[in-house]
Amino acid sequence: MVALITGSARGIGAAIALRLAKDGFDIAFNDISEAMFENNDILDKVRALGVKAEVFIADVSKYSQCEDMAKAVKEQFGSIDVLVNNAGITRDNLMARMTEADYDLVIAVNQKSVFNMMKIVTEYMRKQRHGHIINLASVVGVYGNPGQVNYAASKAAIIGMTKTVAKELGSRNVTCNAVAPGFIHTPMTDKLTEEQKQKMLSMIAMKRYGEPEEIASVVSFLASEDSSYVTGQVIEIAGGLSI
Ligand code: NAP
Repeated sequence: MVALITGSARGIGAAIALRLAKDGFDIAFNDISEAMFENNDILDKVRALGVKAEVFIADVSKYSQCEDMAKAVKEQFGSIDVLVNNAGITRDNLMARMTEADYDLVIAVNQKSVFNMMKIVTEYMRKQRHGHIINLASVVGVYGNPGQVNYAASKAAIIGMTKTVAKELGSRNVTCNAVAPGFIHTPMTDKLTEEQKQKMLSMIAMKRYGEPEEIASVVSFLASEDSSYVTGQVIEIAGGLSI
């Protein structure tokens, strides 16, 4: 069984790769640049588990690069059984100060990429009558967050896309679910100010941030046959942020 994980050189994507490798999946890593895998032991850690692992460089906001990547993964691995749409960026600013370029970039990388990858990979999954897609949404796409109108739009769209694709492909035995992380320790959240971090912490019932491995364990369930009758769902993993 083969899992393709976008944006998996570091952060949550790398933790998902490691966890799915422990589950026995061969891993097709993706990131936007080869440099992301330099001075980075994630590939060695995954290969040490005895599974096959290769890196496929592509900018997932570009449809043609996604097509080339999916084709290469299929040729080298034989199938794509699990697709994790994890690549994502932030370009935060209050809407009044946000540039059009930063709005468009976040939509392209976070949202259009999910369309690209799902459209291309489900062509294989439909034919093999089997597949699991897991999309990385965010609590911000559900509840909103000041300074993130671009990011919130992209993540809310992912939730609508997840439910739509679940309805379109359920009869082909392809499941499509989303996870909505809250505040997780990664390079993406390291960029927040101390004030922003403390504000988030005060709203979390469990009074701590999450770890990438705590996202990976839910993704592992959604990638497994234990979740064979779960589709179109959005699972919040946020330590009780919203309750
Ligand atoms: P991260 O540490 O910044 O990792 C994201 C990875 O995606 C980076 O390696 C990044 O490479 C890569 N990437 C960016 N643009 C790409 C592109 N066009 N094509 C291919 N790869 C690209 O982020 P993270 O915190 O692990 O987040 C992973 C996912 O979880 C994202 O979708 C994020 O929105 C979501 N999420 C995170 C949190 C959180 O608290 N961390 C909360 C909710 C949701 P570069 O560094 O070169 O850009």
